[in-house]
Amino acid sequence: MNPSRTIVLASRNHKKAREVAEILAPAGFRVIPVTEFPDVPEVEEDGLTFAANAAKKASEVAKHLGQWVIGEDSGLQVDALNGGPGIYSARYSGEGANDETNNQKLMAELMHVPDEKRGAGYLCSVALSSPAGDIRVACEGTCRGSILRDANGAGGFGYDPYFLIPEYHLTFGQLSSVVKHRLSHRARAFAKFVPLLLKIQDEF
Ligand code: IMP
Repeated sequence: MNPSRTIVLASRNHKKAREVAEILAPAGFRVIPVTEFPDVPEVEEDGLTFAANAAKKASEVAKHLGQWVIGEDSGLQVDALNGGPGIYSARYSGEGANDETNNQKLMAELMHVPDEKRGAGYLCSVALSSPAGDIRVACEGTCRGSILRDANGAGGFGYDPYFLIPEYHLTFGQLSSVVKHRLSHRARAFAKFVPLLLKIQDEF
């Protein structure tokens, strides 16, 4: 690996990119978001699983840049919605979707779901592509919680203000980033990912 140990992240979500950068910093990696390379075309997320989308993002961006690239796909799976919005989490409320409109839709869908049936989990899938586009590492992490009726906290992003971690009685919007980076689906996926990345670092 080159001495600065930099790696490109194939995500245009700034808050997610910051989380990944914070998670990988202690392992000695500097994460550069794909937004710093304006010529890279948008990757269509048309896979049927988180893993397929993570692999596609990593591989397409890697081939374009000729660099090692991490692809990450994640989302919320709500029990009462049979695992939805799942891979559609970012675009749940349709065209022009953003965190606010997605959360409004989630609240509307769960309006009549009682407290004891509001269980949910986040899932994060991570893939590492070689510059040739081959997937060399792939792992996943999950985190269970439940969906509140009212938002709490301004931290995190996406569905975080509604996502309660029962052990803490706090949402991901209320917990500090230090705690989120210990418990989250993303932290758990990267905890598996980093040792595998280190194993092949000589090929970088
Ligand atoms: P992606 O960028 O296509 O992987 O979409 C990820 C979407 O899933 C985000 O836009 C959020 O709606 C949701 N999501 C994923 N991870 C988190 C998280 O850590 N907190 C809150 N929402 C998340």
